[in-house]
Amino acid sequence: MKRVYNFSPGPAAIAPEVIQQAADEMTNWRGCGLSVMEMSHRGREFTEILKTTKDDLRSLMSIPDNYKILLMQGGAIAENAIVPMNLIGHKSQPATIDFVNTGHWSVKSIEEAHKYAKVNIAASSEDSGFHHVPARDTWKLTPDAAYVHICTNETIGGVEFDFTPDVGNVPLVADMSSNILSREMDVSKYAVIYAGAQKNIGPAGLTIVIVRDDMLGHALPICPSAFDWKLVDEHDSMFNTPPTYPIYIAGLTFQWMKRQGGVAAMEKVNIAKAKLIYDYLNSTDFYINKVPAANRSRMNVPFFLKDETLNSKFIAEAEQNDLVQLKGHSSVGGMRASIYNAMPLEGVQALVAFMKDFEKKYG
Ligand SMILES: *Cc1c(COP(=O)(O)O)cnc(C)c1O
Repeated sequence: MKRVYNFSPGPAAIAPEVIQQAADEMTNWRGCGLSVMEMSHRGREFTEILKTTKDDLRSLMSIPDNYKILLMQGGAIAENAIVPMNLIGHKSQPATIDFVNTGHWSVKSIEEAHKYAKVNIAASSEDSGFHHVPARDTWKLTPDAAYVHICTNETIGGVEFDFTPDVGNVPLVADMSSNILSREMDVSKYAVIYAGAQKNIGPAGLTIVIVRDDMLGHALPICPSAFDWKLVDEHDSMFNTPPTYPIYIAGLTFQWMKRQGGVAAMEKVNIAKAKLIYDYLNSTDFYINKVPAANRSRMNVPFFLKDETLNSKFIAEAEQNDLVQLKGHSSVGGMRASIYNAMPLEGVQALVAFMKDFEKKYG
């Protein structure tokens, strides 16, 4: 099977072992004569897949017992509405939500929240081009806010939190779409964690929501039933038909991660991968990355050629070297290497070797 090194930001690379296992099992899951795609979500086989998937995620992230795991749909963008609809119903309206604005995905969350609540921008790095995470002691939080929202990794800007903020008794909500399971996180510091699966877990179509149980039951009356976390939890993520195939692939990824040694082992490799590429970026001015060291994302590495007229040559020659999907997001241009868990160290070594060659050739 021909495989290339896939640097896509999402839908992103899935571990080759997982793809192969899915291929082997696709037409006949473990001898039951059915593909997972055509099983009833309430049948014995899928019930087992669902349970194992949730149990494995709980153990990988050390999710405490008082947290629910909800397997939903709509992606992080739907959660931008689902989160406020679920968390402000018990407050006098309009409730206030505090946001820390660190880039593209924070902006999206903020825009959507305006429909439901009063928004307070507690801190923002917009003035400096969204290159860093504002230090905690600069945040201007609202004492009775319904919650504080952060995006722990800005996938487009390549800016990642290097700390877990203490926000007192106000619930902390995090969009972890692009760095969930990439590093050890203390789940108990968060009230809600959500993430689309297509960056670091599996195929698009599945959204993971991890929610502390005291956050349930606060939904606004307008919240659609299928998005009301309390109902979703009461129906074990089967209030509506869940995305069964993406859940199955996510489960295979969780088993693969466990075989690798879990999140701690993934984090070690992720640190090594990020160091390799940032060390090289530090050593040259042929390529540019403006994020200060402390906030450089381990998952998404945007970089720019000093001479931007070489961009299309870079992309084309990278592809000839089996290094694909390196084009930067249209809003910022340049290049971006997304190096999620499924990207092996060898892939980053191949990329850095190519970048060095390219510099020699055109620098
Ligand atoms: C990709 C991404 C999103 C958007 O996810 P959808 O699945 O398209 O809703 C939101 N937030 C972050 C941090 C992302 O990386």
